[in-house]
Amino acid sequence: MVRRLVLVLGDQLSDDLSALREGSKETDVVVMAEVRAETDYVAHHPKKIAFLFAAMRKHAERLRADGWEVRYTKLDDPENTHSIPGELLRAADATGATEAIGTEPGEFRLIAALEDGPLPTHLFPDDRFLCSHAEFEAWAEGRKELRMEWFYREMRRKTGLLMDADGKPEGDRWNYDHDNRKPAPDDVSDASAPMRFTPDETVEEVLALVKAQFGNRYGSLDDFWLGTEPGQARRALAHWVKHNLPKFGDFQDAMVTGEPYLYHAVLSIYMNAGLLGWREVCEAAVEAYRRGEAPINAVEGFVRQIIGWREYIRGVYFLEGPNYPQRNELGHDRNLPEFWWTGETDMRCVHEAVRATMDNAYAHHIQRLMVTGNFGLLAGLDPQQVSEWYLIVYADAYEWVEAPNVVGMSQFADGGVVASKPYVSSGAYIDRMSDHCQHCAYSVKTKVGKGACPFNLLYWHFLNRHRARFEDNPRMGNMYRTWDRMDAARRDAVIADAEAWLARMEAGERV
Ligand SMILES: Cc1cc2nc3c(=O)[nH]c(=O)nc-3n(C[C@H](O)[C@H](O)[C@H](O)COP(=O)(O)OP(=O)(O)OC[C@H]3O[C@@H](n4cnc5c(N)ncnc54)[C@H](O)[C@@H]3O)c2cc1C
Ligand code: SF4
Repeated sequence: MVRRLVLVLGDQLSDDLSALREGSKETDVVVMAEVRAETDYVAHHPKKIAFLFAAMRKHAERLRADGWEVRYTKLDDPENTHSIPGELLRAADATGATEAIGTEPGEFRLIAALEDGPLPTHLFPDDRFLCSHAEFEAWAEGRKELRMEWFYREMRRKTGLLMDADGKPEGDRWNYDHDNRKPAPDDVSDASAPMRFTPDETVEEVLALVKAQFGNRYGSLDDFWLGTEPGQARRALAHWVKHNLPKFGDFQDAMVTGEPYLYHAVLSIYMNAGLLGWREVCEAAVEAYRRGEAPINAVEGFVRQIIGWREYIRGVYFLEGPNYPQRNELGHDRNLPEFWWTGETDMRCVHEAVRATMDNAYAHHIQRLMVTGNFGLLAGLDPQQVSEWYLIVYADAYEWVEAPNVVGMSQFADGGVVASKPYVSSGAYIDRMSDHCQHCAYSVKTKVGKGACPFNLLYWHFLNRHRARFEDNPRMGNMYRTWDRMDAARRDAVIADAEAWLARMEAGERV
């Protein structure tokens, strides 16, 4: 039989992977490689690299124990060619293989590198997701708008999750989101931090390597506690279901100073690398509901994030094609300010989100969307620079999931494919959902003049500069009516203050 290479990428660490199913333990050789092309195409956070390398090394050992021959290239292997196609070619030379198979990567860059690479490579669909490309295309066909909610209902019907015997949604409602917007509670001492895992020998070895090679990059490698194998990821899931799922729904949008995780799952890191699958995480949540240990608003909210948002976002990425991440429909072109890398800003909310990101390679959804994302959109930052930042700094960031969330949902740079209106808000939203404004150098109650919260100023600046595009959007009419009711002198003062503030930011002053 022909000897083939079976490529397993760093985010394909699932036991049930299409390429492994198609390969043969008798004749084929698994190829896994730590390469500079992947660590350096953007300067990923060191915690992300350490997590992936450690998880990859352990996955290679599991495959060997399962009877596979595995060729694993470590980053510091002197023969390393530092690219995936290069490592495939080297493996082909060493084994006599003349072709490779793989599972479709989650980004167009790598798909092109493999399809156009020197070794004939066949890619099988990544069926670890619930919705195939063909299914998403069929759903999207002929629709004027790709609203997540309609897609989600299809996925509920398809999986039967939280559906009763008559095909109706559990509790007679599809979506419990309006119960899920409670502001930050005064006491969050019952929120349990994610389960922590003490680094073992493999993790320690990788941490030393990553510190030596990437230690001077953005992001801290200290206090590494992530799990790096499926059993640990499953324990982290069980821990979260037990301790935090019951309140996950209620406080999904809340932000509390010094609490980077609150009731969030912190599971995307494991899921996106393949250590956990959509079905097991959803079933764990639904079982907690059946046992009466978690309320429907929390469980439905979580299931919606997984089979709704996560699948929908991936569907959009592959539907819209390779140029999607480059879109810039609003023509925003401001450079990323330095404080996105340092957290050195007087805006308490931004400081909190950026510092947590530096330390943990994690920030929760509402920080990503309504603090940094909202700021980027209001300030007119270049969406490609914003997108690159998100891809670098989060341990769960891969282009299939990062680009539609950033370029689409958060920066509206796709012109409204993902979001029906831009996610913009003034400081009032952040004040309602967090305790940050109480500790801020700016005053959230001040709308113009000395000490005015920059989110207040920039909110009107954004609406004013994009009036032609948004004033007829039925969901934004109220905002324009409020703006128009302000007297002209006040409107001028707001715009002038916003521009002066942006100029100070661009000049590198502390803002
Ligand atoms: C600007 C921006 C950038 C983002 N970048 C990423 C990214 O690079 N990688 C990533 O996995 N998620 C991204 N998200 C989505 C979401 O913020 C993260 O999935 C979530 O914060 C991960 O933390 P968690 O596991 O604690 O999630 P929870 O808040 O506990 O949610 C549960 C799970 O739902 C899924 N989920 C929820 N929302 C989304 C979504 N919009 N897209 C995809 N999955 C979702 C995730 O698997 C997550 O683990 C981004 C969101 C925004 C607004
Ligand atoms: S006052 Fe404005 S800048 Fe300060 S924390 Fe509140 S929203 Fe953020």
